[in-house]
Amino acid sequence: MGDEKTTQTILVVGGGISGTTAAVEAAEAGHDVVLVEKNPYLGGRVAQMHQYFPKLCPPYCGLEINFRRMKQSPNVRLFTLSEIEGISGEEGNFEVTIKTSPRYVNEKCTACGKCADACELEIDNPFNYGMDKIKAAYLPHIMAFPTRYTLAPEVIGTEDAQKCKDACDYDAIVLDMEAQTFTLNVGAIVWASGWEPYDPAKLDYYNYDDCSNLITNVMMDRLAAVNGPTGGKIIRPSDGKPVEHLAFVQCAGSRDENHLAYCSDICCMASLKQATYLREQNPEARITIFFIDIRAMERLEDFYVKIQADDKVTFVKSKIAKITQDPETGDVILEGEDTMLAQKIEVKADMAVLATGMVPSTAARKVPLEVAYDEYGFIPKDSGVAGIISVGTGKRPSNVSSCVQSGTAAALKAIQSISRR
Ligand SMILES: Cc1cc2nc3c(=O)[nH]c(=O)nc-3n(C[C@H](O)[C@H](O)[C@H](O)COP(=O)(O)OP(=O)(O)OC[C@H]3O[C@@H](n4cnc5c(N)ncnc54)[C@H](O)[C@@H]3O)c2cc1C
Ligand code: SF4
Ligand code: SF4
Repeated sequence: MGDEKTTQTILVVGGGISGTTAAVEAAEAGHDVVLVEKNPYLGGRVAQMHQYFPKLCPPYCGLEINFRRMKQSPNVRLFTLSEIEGISGEEGNFEVTIKTSPRYVNEKCTACGKCADACELEIDNPFNYGMDKIKAAYLPHIMAFPTRYTLAPEVIGTEDAQKCKDACDYDAIVLDMEAQTFTLNVGAIVWASGWEPYDPAKLDYYNYDDCSNLITNVMMDRLAAVNGPTGGKIIRPSDGKPVEHLAFVQCAGSRDENHLAYCSDICCMASLKQATYLREQNPEARITIFFIDIRAMERLEDFYVKIQADDKVTFVKSKIAKITQDPETGDVILEGEDTMLAQKIEVKADMAVLATGMVPSTAARKVPLEVAYDEYGFIPKDSGVAGIISVGTGKRPSNVSSCVQSGTAAALKAIQSISRR
């Protein structure tokens, strides 16, 4: 089994649910694993959910299990704020170049928060998709793993940076920390860089940039979250009015040859889930869902049937063609066609959510080696390079449960890849 050139280490790129699953599965099978994540924390987009379907449990249920397994495993080495700059070699013996950006905070951090208290500079909060501000010395979010503060690059070189350092009793702030680049040898690579939300500004007929009360589905999950920008209150951005009528526009960009030609698979379920967020908060609130078809397959169908039974939720088979915002009232005006009745519609809502689709991260940030992509930038089942394995939403749009299965399968494939050398 293996020659002397084969290294048994497995590299996992991306610490979302797919990547962390692949990492812990491979580590528990006895392999050394290097997990590389570009954010200062693990969990990917799932960490930003309020609840997740179909059970509507907090997303940390699933992530915490992976984090606990990782803490218990001596085989996983984690590099946050890191990316892969280069890959050479072949299956069994790749050489990878990793670049780690400075966090400006070392492992002595106890997450006491005194640096944030001392810091006056605020930045847009990336965890809440810029819907609120956060101090430039910050814990990315309350459940962040690793639990360590970060200094935003914007604060470095300012008086605030020195104030943060002076406030720290643990000598944990290192203002001259520099980026580091190093190489490692690994036997197989699991590419788990996940997905990005489709840019709503590209849907010019929806006037996203001009409508403050038009948000995207990923923002809606943050808006409902207790650690979100409004403490979990579903109020509209322009004036803080509690939302009494919420509209969802399905297939916002997906299933459209001019944008994403494919179905993004999860956005029907995401809107159904988000409908429950508002209905729980306000039993009188109304919801209108404008859809082409509702795609809720297999066991997810029960969830759809349950929402359909709610008389405050209206489903309109339609295509919304234009969205504007009334400057006086802040209401969002949705115009389009009811395709069942073949008639034009115009509906006003307090706020509207665009159910934007999933774009593979590899559409923009390629693997630094010639791998195969499909026409949309996903890396299909066969990456075209032995020893490089695509996983989760990097392969196709999918939900958490499919990503967990895919992560486990990827770990096995990586182990097989090393073993056959
Ligand atoms: C609005 C909405 C709601 C949803 N709600 C649910 C739900 O309730 N239930 C459900 O089952 N599914 C839900 N989903 C789907 C769910 O978000 C995905 O299944 C899940 O995020 C996929 O995990 P992943 O690990 O494949 O990707 P991601 O979550 O995207 O994780 C990828 C990780 O890789 C990192 N990364 C990216 N590029 C690089 C790089 N070059 N180098 C290093 N690291 C990198 C990222 O920072 C991230 O941490 C929802 C999706 C949407 C759009
Ligand atoms: S960097 Fe220092 S002051 Fe800031 S949270 Fe960590 S220990 Fe506390
Ligand atoms: S899952 Fe639903 S909203 Fe998303 S692209 Fe498919 S049909 Fe459209």
